[in-house]
Amino acid sequence: MTVENVIIIGSGPAGFSAGIYTGRAQLNPLLITGNDIGGQVAITYEVENYPGFPESLSGPELVEKFQEQAQKFGTRIEYDYVDAVDFHQHPFSVHTQGGKTFQAKSVILSTGATPRKLQIPGEEELTGRGVSYCATCDGFFFRGKKVVVVGGGDSAMEEAIFLTRFADEVTIIHRRDALRASKILQERAFSNDKIKFIWNSVVTAINAGESGAVSHLTLKNVVTGAETSFATDGIFIFIGHEPNGWMFADQVDMEDGYVITDRRMHTSVPGVFAAGEIQDNHFRQVATSVGQGVMAAMECEKYLAGLEIAAEEPAAELVPA
Ligand code: NAP
Repeated sequence: MTVENVIIIGSGPAGFSAGIYTGRAQLNPLLITGNDIGGQVAITYEVENYPGFPESLSGPELVEKFQEQAQKFGTRIEYDYVDAVDFHQHPFSVHTQGGKTFQAKSVILSTGATPRKLQIPGEEELTGRGVSYCATCDGFFFRGKKVVVVGGGDSAMEEAIFLTRFADEVTIIHRRDALRASKILQERAFSNDKIKFIWNSVVTAINAGESGAVSHLTLKNVVTGAETSFATDGIFIFIGHEPNGWMFADQVDMEDGYVITDRRMHTSVPGVFAAGEIQDNHFRQVATSVGQGVMAAMECEKYLAGLEIAAEEPAAELVPA
């Protein structure tokens, strides 16, 4: 079996950046995409804070550019989902849902994170029928309607503002009486006439009407305990993310589902690096993921050079006792 120099798992900003750098270093990297190309930025309507694009661009446009640049330097793309890895033996092995097994001298983990669920009655059943985690994908269907956004972070504010392009009314429901979002996004949300807030409240159930789509929510005020019903056509949930790292459990050191790395993106296994939201639950920016992907690639290059030197060095002579 061919042993790859480096396999990059994941096709978000971290993965493609690692592809650009390892490709340019002539390492002929293989990047395995996961189910969807681009990760979370691929479902972002507008990216306005990625340096170098002052006019801003859409998430899918940015992903296309990342991919084009990675392929330009020789990154090979495998459209598959990694479901198992073995880092206990070198060369490492990587298995995909498509039934393929690859071997590699080094691996860069960049599988990112996915939206967290509320885990309440009605959420799963009504996903796609009024429950959504992607305003860019589904906002259009709510033209002239009433929608709810759950969450108090940057994502909730950004997506609520985006939804006002379509919906007549956007109600943000937050479990506390203060937002976590950055000041600039808070100000934009507060000054938008179409956005209303319900504070100190959680959604406890999502209910369907006769059509089978979302018609109303059950809300609970966490201060008074009072339960109310709130009519809405849709609910968009932005309450954070879960890391996509279950397949790395027992292979590298992890904490709360995130892969632990040092400041140079090394995991607990020499030759395995991690970058982006699979190892960063704090910054979560396209720009920081790109930086981490670059760092992982540079360290990976150094690791592979070290392996080559070790292979070329003559074995130490045995000295008789
Ligand atoms: P986040 O900052 O973790 O915020 C999650 C929000 O959901 C919080 O307000 C949290 O409430 C609430 N929440 C969590 N679990 C909940 C539950 N079970 N029920 C109800 N509410 C719940 O997540 P995010 O907004 O996705 O942002 C993630 C990171 O990406 C952040 O670092 C953010 O700055 C960054 N980001 C930046 C931009 C930008 O700069 N343009 C855009 C998007 C995201 P509490 O506040 O009470 O904890």
